[in-house]
Amino acid sequence: MADSPDTGATAAGSDVPAPRTPKQVPPRGDVKRAGTEDNPQREDRKRGGLGELFAPVAGFGVTFATMFRKVATEEYPEEKRPTEARFHGRHQLNRHPDGLEKCIGCELCAWACPADAILVEGASNDDSAGGAGRYSPGERYGRVYQINYLRCIFCGFCIEACPTRALTMTNTYELADNNRADLIFTKDQLLAPVQEGMLPAPHPMVAGMEEGDYYQGKVARATPEQQAWVDAHASPHADGGDAPGGAQSGGFADTEGFAESEEVAR
Ligand code: SF4
Repeated sequence: MADSPDTGATAAGSDVPAPRTPKQVPPRGDVKRAGTEDNPQREDRKRGGLGELFAPVAGFGVTFATMFRKVATEEYPEEKRPTEARFHGRHQLNRHPDGLEKCIGCELCAWACPADAILVEGASNDDSAGGAGRYSPGERYGRVYQINYLRCIFCGFCIEACPTRALTMTNTYELADNNRADLIFTKDQLLAPVQEGMLPAPHPMVAGMEEGDYYQGKVARATPEQQAWVDAHASPHADGGDAPGGAQSGGFADTEGFAESEEVAR
C-alpha cells in the first residue's frame, strides 16, 4: 500500500515517513500591488505641482512645526513640578492620632523587599515603672528602622506588606547625596512629624482603649492624661522622631543603629 502524500503520515506497515506537500503560495498575478489600477488610493497620493515645488524642504516640516510648539524643558530645580498623586517617593513611618507609632516591628516590609533595602529590629513596649516606655499600641514596636536608598527600587512591595499602614510612600523624590552613609535613612528621619493633637512617643495608650480601638479609628487625639504622663516623664531622649537617635535606640546606645547602618550599606 502506498504512503499518503497529503498528511505526511507513515503508511501502515512502513517506517518511512511520507513526503509532505509543499506550501501552497498564490500565483504572483493574484497579489494586489500598490500603484496599480487595483489600488486607486495610490493615485490620490501623487504629488501635485505645489508638492513638487516644496519637496526639497519637506524634510524640515517637523523641525519648523516643533519650533512653534510649547517648550517641554523643565526649569528644575528652580521650578518643581508636582508629581502624580501615586508617585512612589521617599517612605514615611506614620503615627496614630495621639502620636504613638503605627509600626509594630513585625519586619514584614523587610521580608517583602526584593532589594534587601530595609532593616527592622522590633522590641517590646514596656509600660512598667522605669521601663523604656510605650511607642506603639500593642506588644511590639520598631526599635530600629532603616531604609537604604542606595538599594531601594521604589517598587512599593514594602507598603503592600505592612499590616498596619505604618509604612507609606510620599511624593518626595529629591534623594541625591554625595556620600553613601547619608542615603541610609534611619527611623528619626522616616517618622512622620508630630502634628496637632499628637504627643511624641513614648507615652501610654489612651485610657480605656485597646490596640484594636486604634485601628478602628476610635482614637482622635492625645488626652490630658497622656499629656500629664509626658510632662512627668519628659526626657531629652524621648521619641526618635524628634530627637536624633531617640526611639531609634529605644533607650539603648545611640551608636548601635549607626553601626548597623554601615552593615546595610555593604
Ligand atoms: S513598617 Fe509595617 S511591615 Fe514594616 S515592620 Fe513596621 S509594621 Fe511591620
